[in-house]
Amino acid sequence: MKDMTQGYGAWLREANFIDGAWVGADSGKTIDVTNPATGDVIGTVPNAGEAETARAIDAAARAFPDFAAMDLMSRVSLLWKLHDALMDNQAALAELLTVEMGKPLAEAKGEIAIGAQYVRWFAEEVRRAKGEIVPAGVNGRRILVTKHPVGVVGMITPWNFPSSMLARKIAPALAAGCTVVAKPATATPFSGLAWAALAEEVGYPKGVVNIVTGSARAIAGAMMAAPEVRKITFTGSTEVGKELIRGSADTVKKVSMELGGNAPFIVFDDADLDAAVEGAMVSKYRNSGQTCVCANRLYVQAGIHDAFVAKLVERTRALKVGDGREDGVAQGPLIDMGAVEKVEALLGDAVEKGAKIATGGKRHALGHSFFEPTVLTGATPAMDFAQEEIFGPLAPVFRFETEEEAIAMANDTVFGLAAYAYTRDLGRAFRLNQGLQYGMIGINSGLITTVEAPFGGVKESGLGKEGGSQGLEDYLDTKYVCVDGI
Ligand code: NAP
Repeated sequence: MKDMTQGYGAWLREANFIDGAWVGADSGKTIDVTNPATGDVIGTVPNAGEAETARAIDAAARAFPDFAAMDLMSRVSLLWKLHDALMDNQAALAELLTVEMGKPLAEAKGEIAIGAQYVRWFAEEVRRAKGEIVPAGVNGRRILVTKHPVGVVGMITPWNFPSSMLARKIAPALAAGCTVVAKPATATPFSGLAWAALAEEVGYPKGVVNIVTGSARAIAGAMMAAPEVRKITFTGSTEVGKELIRGSADTVKKVSMELGGNAPFIVFDDADLDAAVEGAMVSKYRNSGQTCVCANRLYVQAGIHDAFVAKLVERTRALKVGDGREDGVAQGPLIDMGAVEKVEALLGDAVEKGAKIATGGKRHALGHSFFEPTVLTGATPAMDFAQEEIFGPLAPVFRFETEEEAIAMANDTVFGLAAYAYTRDLGRAFRLNQGLQYGMIGINSGLITTVEAPFGGVKESGLGKEGGSQGLEDYLDTKYVCVDGI
């Protein structure tokens, strides 16, 4: 039997963290958490709801005044400790992530590391969260603009980056002086609960970080209803994001929404072919295609189309599929069978409408929720994935002739998160920057997430930014004081 005090077991917490204590659900009910690569239950978490969330909010509201008033350098020093705790425990936290989510261990280690980088970044940024003194229109008056933490922040996160999606919210919140009530995804709650364990270990005051697991509707409902929750930050589907925006209206909460994507990946005839294929591999197959910025539609110009497809197919065939903990595995399982069925439905629709399978195309022989990395050619705008997020290892290739046509097809979606283009024409790169209706654009790059940059979408992909200086600004209110009679 595995010694649960070692390895990932050291960070596996089967309880919620409320007001500085590890507690179960009031009902005593729990939810099983399974490893998607094996189907084994790896532990249980409390099935909490409204009452437990209300207590967490109350704790966060009570902790807020003292935490907001803490010396800036004391808050910064806690963030430094949190960063070090993440990196000191990177291997165990990564294994925990892989067993509950399925991604290859190397990707999980990278996720813990980027989470730690966000913590360090915001520890640095908050020291520069400067106000302003604005010239007044009349003598004898001063106008001072100052920044203040928004208050209690409610956070809801998805399963595809169970640790770093929380990092991008918890780090700026704690840097700004906000207190936190977070709900991780039910499929991957342990990486979320590990943040509470880390916060406890480095000495955050009780009530500053609270983590609740269980019914999404009940927990979100309690967050929506509470006037003390001054901000809701959500990463997940556009459908749920819209519900949360509506729900936030009654108490006029600030909202940050990181929602769905439908990324175009455009390869022009003048592109560096090898670089474009490399970028497509990274952008398409990272996390088995389950990222919001994954290439969803590959548009390839006619002159380079066949050479690009041949190389993409060759590289795709070489991907090793398996349990994320095995050496050399590049593709883990999908999160669950629902995800497999979605990929199959999109594939079936495309084949029926004339697409051809160049490689892959079916469930993997390993069983469970493993799916073969797949390349499709002959994709058209009539196929469902032209409008829907695939969230799986399926790469549909569309052929195009002109730049105008590519931009028009790329923009023909309600989403506007990430877009990619490969070209060696500088003028075209600037035209794409102007023409593509996306919050983030990778020119000759398939991997664009970095702590220094503002991550976020436009259109129905969301509101607000994570990372960059903007990522801190979203956790601050601006106040202005007018000093007269000088
Ligand atoms: P999801 O179904 O929207 O779930 C995300 C979170 O919302 C989970 O914690 C979930 O809880 C919770 N939730 C579900 N229904 C809810 C409701 N009615 N009210 C309040 N909360 C609710 O999304 P997902 O399938 O887990 O994640 C994939 C989506 O996230 C994709 O669309 C992807 O593009 C998007 N995403 C966006 C970004 C970005 O930065 N823009 C990053 C990553 C992912 P349960 O787990 O308990 O159901």
